[in-house]
Amino acid sequence: MNRIGQGVDIHPFADPLDNGRPLILGGVRISETGGLAGHSDADAVLHAVTDALLGAVGAGDIGHYFPSTDERWRNADSSQFVREAKRILDEMNAEIENLDVTIIAQQPKLSPHRDAMIASIAHLLSLPQGHVNVKATTTDHLGFIGRGEGICAMAIVLVAMEGEAGLSPAERESAEPRLRTAEQRLRRLQQD
Ligand code: MG
Repeated sequence: MNRIGQGVDIHPFADPLDNGRPLILGGVRISETGGLAGHSDADAVLHAVTDALLGAVGAGDIGHYFPSTDERWRNADSSQFVREAKRILDEMNAEIENLDVTIIAQQPKLSPHRDAMIASIAHLLSLPQGHVNVKATTTDHLGFIGRGEGICAMAIVLVAMEGEAGLSPAERESAEPRLRTAEQRLRRLQQD
């Protein structure tokens, strides 16, 4: 059975007077300054990818596992969020068919970094690069994105699930214990 998941994330640009942060998107360091504000490394692309993965298997959202109120995730490398979501998919025997990402940003120009982002995301998810697509667009100067105040990332993923995890309504119940196990394991990891 196929299931679909969507993720959306928006971050404002960090105050440049704040000495700037690197701009990190899709796990790729786009620039050393001009980065986004956020509790973690503010990688809106990887946050959207994480939410799409969790959404596809009905496993909640990124804030549930990695709350922005938790000091452990301050300046965190967002690739660990993607890896944890992938582990949850693996536990549920969910295989990623394809992942499509759209970044909406007026600036900077992201097309030169497209291939690097695809390679980075495919590597994080142990996927052939042909299963991952990244594209970028602008809002033609409309709205907060057009004014260069922030960036929006959207991700959509299709997964295939086999067996009991192939989810009829009853299977949702059967998945609950595994979800709890994934959370307990994460808590143990965090305590170490
Ligand atoms: Mg975020």
